Amino acid sequence: MKASLTLFERSLQLVRYPEHLQHPSWQAWDAADEYIIEYLQERPERAKAQGLRIYNDDFGALTCWFAKQKPTWISDSYVALRSCQDNLALNNINSQQVTFCSSMDTITTPTELVLLKIPKTTALLEQQLIDLQDSVGPQTLIIAAAKASAIQKSTLVLFEKYLGITTTSLAKKKARLVFCQPSGKLKHQSPYPTHWFSESPKFELSNHANVFARQQLDIGARFMLQHLPKSNGKTLIDLGCGNGVLGLSILYKYPDAKVIFVDESYMALASAKENLQRNLPEALPRCEFLISNCLDEFLNQTERSTVDIVLCNPPFHQQNAITDHIALQMFSDAKKALVKGGELVVVGNRHLDYPVKLKRLFNSAKQSATNQKFSIFTAIK
Ligand code: SAM
Repeated sequence: MKASLTLFERSLQLVRYPEHLQHPSWQAWDAADEYIIEYLQERPERAKAQGLRIYNDDFGALTCWFAKQKPTWISDSYVALRSCQDNLALNNINSQQVTFCSSMDTITTPTELVLLKIPKTTALLEQQLIDLQDSVGPQTLIIAAAKASAIQKSTLVLFEKYLGITTTSLAKKKARLVFCQPSGKLKHQSPYPTHWFSESPKFELSNHANVFARQQLDIGARFMLQHLPKSNGKTLIDLGCGNGVLGLSILYKYPDAKVIFVDESYMALASAKENLQRNLPEALPRCEFLISNCLDEFLNQTERSTVDIVLCNPPFHQQNAITDHIALQMFSDAKKALVKGGELVVVGNRHLDYPVKLKRLFNSAKQSATNQKFSIFTAIK
């Protein structure tokens, strides 16, 4: 659904990507975006600062608004990238004005103004504050923003620890701004990626800051590992691969299987690749790594083949919203990617209604394993 963000007699049409799958009540901007825009509109001399950086602009509202300042856009999310690009096009803004960088890029050009939407994952915020240390100084103002309830004392402590003096604004429409004045003198090593060991086989798993299950194996994934499908000679997709633990285990157990690792998080995909290189380098020729919203980029390939199995431990939120629309797109994309007779294997919390959704899409879907908390469903095309 398109909606207009109207402020200071200027309007932007904004959508969330992928537009056709979004709930009609969801907006592509929030009160924190409005607060940043209002703050800078009232202080035009600040908005003219050099080297504008915009972090975690989930749907591109800030990038569209400040496009004339030629911002650098930084995010860990491919869905955010696609949203931003769609919204620039929708508002006839030349996307060449924006430099797009992923969270895995190193950026050291100096900046005088940083706009940062505080991400859901504290570790990602911490990594981004560390990344900023190389390009900020007393000439830089950092304006961060979020729902007031998401800004804890511990959040402000991170800004102070990594950058410099930090203050906050009053709350407006339940959003708050954080102002940070970097000293330019602080230099810290990043505690990321973090590492943990899987049990059997014993892999060392490396996890960049925004990776799901960064500190330990997810319990859903643990259950899936006990019930991996027979994959001799098969081509699989590890859909929403995170650090790649599922695909890595398949490649270890089935030395002639191939795995395509897919995730929308740049940090996840980088972690999955590093984990292959570290634990099973001989399997790299049997791997592909694809950044994508669900299977969009796989299905868009002109010369694509089908796959035999899709493994999926689906996400249940997009940024801060709890949703099953991503899981549903994953299931329907998996059906398109599978060969006739191929299997989609899904692990999920028992209370979720995945079986109903799978039965609607596939001819047959059965529960292939269950424990007190999780079930595994196998749907055959
Ligand atoms: N497979 C890993 C495991 O079992 O530990 C991670 C599973 S985690 C529940 C879901 C994964 O889906 C996350 O890595 C997340 O980044 C990814 N994801 C979320 N939205 C996505 C989307 N629209 N397209 C592709 N991947 C997505």
